[in-house]
Amino acid sequence: MEDCIFCRIINEEVPAKKVYEDSEFLVFADVNPQAPVHNLVIPKKHISNIMEIRDGEMLGRLFEVVQKVAQQEGIASDGFRVVNNCGENGGQTVDHLHFHLLGGRFMEWPPG
Ligand code: AMP
Repeated sequence: MEDCIFCRIINEEVPAKKVYEDSEFLVFADVNPQAPVHNLVIPKKHISNIMEIRDGEMLGRLFEVVQKVAQQEGIASDGFRVVNNCGENGGQTVDHLHFHLLGGRFMEWPPG
């Protein structure tokens, strides 16, 4: 999608620090990190948010990528947090489905 910043990252029109890539998914560092490890896991196919997911199996594959990247980033054994913000009240600011992968420190609860 032309005016989507994450599609532009996928198309290499906007730079990003890539952490993992395959034919279906891209993982890159969040530009405004909230933890020592803060990556965004996205499908390359433009899907606006959770409400637009039609292929549930895609999510299983996405979480296999989360596992791989958690291992790769060295946060798998200590634990980490996966966050999805959906829609306005959820705090979503980029309308391309993405999961925040946060680790490297203890995560407080509840979120704000
Ligand atoms: P959300 O608020 O859940 O929609 O998350 C969007 C995230 O995308 C925020 O954490 C931003 O810091 C991050 N972000 C926005 N633009 C970029 C970019 N060009 N490269 C990396 N991360 C970005």
